[in-house]
Amino acid sequence: MNVPLIIIKKRDGGSLTSDEISKFIERYTKGQIPDYQMASLLMAIFFKGMTDYELDSWTEAMIRSGKTLYLGDINGPKIDKHSTGGVGDKVSLSLAPLVAACGIFVPMISGRGLGHTGGTLDKLESLGMNVNLDTESIKRILKENNLVFAGQTEDLCPADRKIYALRDVTGTVDSIPLIASSIMSKKLAEGIEGLVLDVKVGKGAFMKDRKSASLLAMTMKKIGERRGIKVKAILTAMDEPLGNACGGSVEAIEAIEMLHGRGPEDYREVVLHLSAWMLVLAGICKNVAEGKKLCDDKIRSGEAIEKMRGVVIAQGGDGDAVDNPSKLPVGKKSKIITATSSGYLKELDAYKIGLACVALGAGRLKAEDKVDHGAGIILKAKVGDRISKGDEIAVMYTSTHDFDEAENLFHESIQIVETPVYKPKSLILEEV
Ligand code: URA
Repeated sequence: MNVPLIIIKKRDGGSLTSDEISKFIERYTKGQIPDYQMASLLMAIFFKGMTDYELDSWTEAMIRSGKTLYLGDINGPKIDKHSTGGVGDKVSLSLAPLVAACGIFVPMISGRGLGHTGGTLDKLESLGMNVNLDTESIKRILKENNLVFAGQTEDLCPADRKIYALRDVTGTVDSIPLIASSIMSKKLAEGIEGLVLDVKVGKGAFMKDRKSASLLAMTMKKIGERRGIKVKAILTAMDEPLGNACGGSVEAIEAIEMLHGRGPEDYREVVLHLSAWMLVLAGICKNVAEGKKLCDDKIRSGEAIEKMRGVVIAQGGDGDAVDNPSKLPVGKKSKIITATSSGYLKELDAYKIGLACVALGAGRLKAEDKVDHGAGIILKAKVGDRISKGDEIAVMYTSTHDFDEAENLFHESIQIVETPVYKPKSLILEEV
């Protein structure tokens, strides 16, 4: 295999064969091809893109670099949800127990927060849960509870882990084929039959505009469908944070509150919509309306919160926190942020609020950074609200950091105007 010739072929717009791709990825994963050659190939892909055939070969090679989770011995629909990441995005925490209560098996393999976005695993750890599970434990907990929350195991798509770290430092993260194959290889390795993708669009998302979000959604959907799984992608707005809580334990509290039938309406809308689509893919409900009704029934009956309690306890967490979420510890220090003028809240820039959370200790700038689970922000006003000077608009929490930087970022994130602000009623932008 002539590595430079493969790089040149891609650089000049050629299409790589399945054999070239699989050997390149296999040898890179084994350390037989150096980072600089993989980085060159990634940059060539960044500029020249990939054909569907290359995309499938690339995804397949990443899956084959490790082990897959065999779920064939679980009798029931195996469906997962994946979000491309946002601020205040705690959807997985409520959605997984909710659809599990409806009979779906959810192998929720998630990531940690990096940059301005939070990670599901950090939020779960604020409940005392162990998310570092081996394959056997993942399968056992999934079978017993209909759901499991876990981090990526060492042997699930190791090629993606190595390539993603390299993309992070070589300016090749924001390439649609590379993002799509990275996400889909990990999801397909879970052994699922269906997948709902929450593709976030807006200031706090990876994809800032509708066009690129639609393209990413379509690319991921086609990869999944060509591999024989059902995929539905939903574009949801991420200009302001989702719900009111942004951070670790504050988000876990909001997610649990939602399963008790309380909490902010925008968050509830996204959870119910995505859950309903999972139920449709699973064949449990005929349409989204029926799915939402079933989810509503499971919240009212207490079955959804019961599922949450079960999985929290199964993974070593604090079951009492599920009944009394307000008891979960938040940062020792708190600071109230007030409005500096009167009017209508026009903007709450999710990206800057995400950075403010990082400045409080709730997020990471480098993968090895430690997070303060109690750090975060609770919003007391959302876009469109009428506010008066001096009103409380947010509360910040931290045990480890000062407030100055976060407060500055928060004030930069907001815009208050004199005239009423139009706010779309729904966060659901498009279905692919
Ligand atoms: N998330 C992933 O898992 N991979 C990417 O490439 C981007 C986001």
